[in-house]
Amino acid sequence: MSRTVYLNGAFLPLEEARVPVMDRGFLFADGIYEVAAVLDGTLVDNAAHLARLDRSLSEIGIRNPHTEAEWTRLETELVARNGLTEGLVYMQVTRGVAERDFGFPKGDVAPTVAMFTQEKSITGNAMAETGAKAITVPDLRWKRRDIKSVALLAQVLAKQQAVEAGVAEAFMVEDGLVTEGSSSTVFIVTKAGTLVTRPLSTALLPGITRKAILALAAETGIAVEERLINAKELGEAAEAFYTSASAFVMPVVEIDGQPVGNGRPGPVATRLRALYFDFARAA
Ligand code: PMP
Repeated sequence: MSRTVYLNGAFLPLEEARVPVMDRGFLFADGIYEVAAVLDGTLVDNAAHLARLDRSLSEIGIRNPHTEAEWTRLETELVARNGLTEGLVYMQVTRGVAERDFGFPKGDVAPTVAMFTQEKSITGNAMAETGAKAITVPDLRWKRRDIKSVALLAQVLAKQQAVEAGVAEAFMVEDGLVTEGSSSTVFIVTKAGTLVTRPLSTALLPGITRKAILALAAETGIAVEERLINAKELGEAAEAFYTSASAFVMPVVEIDGQPVGNGRPGPVATRLRALYFDFARAA
């Protein structure tokens, strides 16, 4: 079956979907995106993803072309047309097509809306059993990381460093502090058993999985602290893990070549991963 994508009101075969050269997403990375997981053919925590999409758009002054109900209908139809049971829905909105000029285009230029699905095994991800390895890299990004911008060059370069190091993720460090993973939120568990992640600010993306994990941890009686994480703490932590819509909860067993804890996925990460699956399936 050919892959079907969504572009500006139409469901099309991937090969037929074309975006003009003058699209501001292409020329300026003038746009935002969102990624939601699909489990058992159902969108996971989708209302939260659509709320973040709406916020990202409003922060850069692009009108949201769809209501939450319309977005949900489009996503659901795309998932059905592709027969997707497990994987991701990707959504992107750019400021649209106009003659190249830095300032916003004059007049009512329609935003470009593109969506596609990706098949991905989330339940059968073998890395969750053994745990992932990570490296630390400098955070080279701009100062509004709370906006889910399609300008991802710094993350592309960070992830490529991880690929070349033979590890799964790059933890980005700024002023000696861990900001987040190249495409994930970083958590540690201290030796005292406290779950720690960086507080929300313009320095990091407000992870949708992060929010759910903090709530699940609190409900389970795990002590939670939102505070800055010094990169040195990574080497002293009992556990580390990262979260994202595509990885859910991924235990980290080695950072910069040093084992984390006993070098195996820890009990807190393992428990939160199981709880997140229950949460995702209940949605
Ligand atoms: N931080 C960054 C930089 C990311 O790209 C992602 C993945 N979208 C996350 C955190 C995790 O966010 P979420 O849990 O919403 O996928």
